[in-house]
Amino acid sequence: MDDKSYVSLEQHLCLVCGRLFDTGHVLMDKRFRASMERHTTTGWGLCPEHQKLFDEGFVALIECDPARSGVSAGSTRLQPERAYRTGRLAHLRREVFTRVFNVAIGDGQACVFVEPGVIARLEAMVSAQG
Ligand SMILES: [Zn+2]
Repeated sequence: MDDKSYVSLEQHLCLVCGRLFDTGHVLMDKRFRASMERHTTTGWGLCPEHQKLFDEGFVALIECDPARSGVSAGSTRLQPERAYRTGRLAHLRREVFTRVFNVAIGDGQACVFVEPGVIARLEAMVSAQG
């Protein structure tokens, strides 16, 4: 392919929404070989929108379908690349999350994966409280 280059724009996948976004970093081939595509995905991060929510003290709840995420029952940690996102998201303030789920959340943790139905139940709770 001719469109390879020795520079590439780094992209990350957003943990929360699963979308690709530019990190603003430029990757460079140390030997100046045209080895890279225009964009290179190097890992996970938070897109500007979700970084902002994280900075404001929200934790993202990401609804995933465990049956399609390739997680065995009893597994505690779902790898983001294996998570099958249903597309349903919710944001809760960290202190609210701790109260509702009765679990502490790490300072650096931007998101948690939840099973289908959890977000619907939360929304019902919130609307019941007015
Ligand atoms: Zn995002």
